Amino acid sequence: MSSVGKIDVGVVLGAGRELDLHQAIPLPDFGCFSFPSPAGVALSVRRVAGGLELEGTVDAAVAGSCDRCLDDVRFSLHLDVTENLESGEEAGPLGDGNVLADDQLDLTDLVRQLVDSALPIVLLCNEECQGLCPACGKKRDGACACPPPDPE
Ligand SMILES: [Zn+2]
Ligand SMILES: [Zn+2]
Repeated sequence: MSSVGKIDVGVVLGAGRELDLHQAIPLPDFGCFSFPSPAGVALSVRRVAGGLELEGTVDAAVAGSCDRCLDDVRFSLHLDVTENLESGEEAGPLGDGNVLADDQLDLTDLVRQLVDSALPIVLLCNEECQGLCPACGKKRDGACACPPPDPE
């Protein structure tokens, strides 16, 4: 069974050569985040004792919605990647394991884990976002014309 994004790294593992990967990897939605375009991956892969060393960058465009006002928010992630993958290990530092199984590097799963773990826990359209008015449901900064709530 093979799928897009799986790379046979046997040549690297066997001969100690360096492999340069330049790929566009489509990513599945994660929670309330989606990825409107494939992530750009530029990684060099080297053999090290017991596994692989990956170094390079991942760039991803991300779409989500503001936690306060639900407006669409788009931003981009740029990740500098330095990872060591141990071959045959179940759960590595990336958690899910099986990113590297035998000589098959699951690049899609690796990039998905890297990007997902870099996503913000709270996403705001901007730091000052006032959210939605509980009385009229419109955005507090502009659309809402309700009187300000009484201070407690
Ligand atoms: Zn907002
Ligand atoms: Zn209002």
